Amino acid sequence: MPRDDFQHRAPENVPGKYYVSDQCMDCDLCRETAPTVFARHAPGGYSYVRKQPETAKEESLVRECVEGCCVSTIHGDGDTFDWQAIPADTPYYLTPEGRAAHERFLDFKNGSCCKRRPNFLVRFFQRIFRNDRNA
Ligand code: SF4
Repeated sequence: MPRDDFQHRAPENVPGKYYVSDQCMDCDLCRETAPTVFARHAPGGYSYVRKQPETAKEESLVRECVEGCCVSTIHGDGDTFDWQAIPADTPYYLTPEGRAAHERFLDFKNGSCCKRRPNFLVRFFQRIFRNDRNA
């Protein structure tokens, strides 16, 4: 499992002890706690390690993030792997499934499910009133 997590890491992580794998929920905790170490990848909506901790203070903050991450997706075993030999997987948002999910999300956000079905709301209210009459 640790190797899976390592392989599923964000490709933007800089090599070293710490890395973020692909379960990030973009909650912002690590970026708030250790902003010199973690950054946000905006297109993918996830965190990654932009710089490995260099001071005791940074190391302590990163340990706090490892403990506090709600999905346990910050790992501290990066120095046990060969970063060159094990390339990171393609991030989900760049896969065909990820792109399709993003398109669906945009459709939902723009309300186009109703726009593409102009009779949807009419039928919805007709059904409610029909049910009222039948009650
Ligand atoms: S704390 Fe964990 S879930 Fe939250 S942004 Fe950082 S890596 Fe992602």
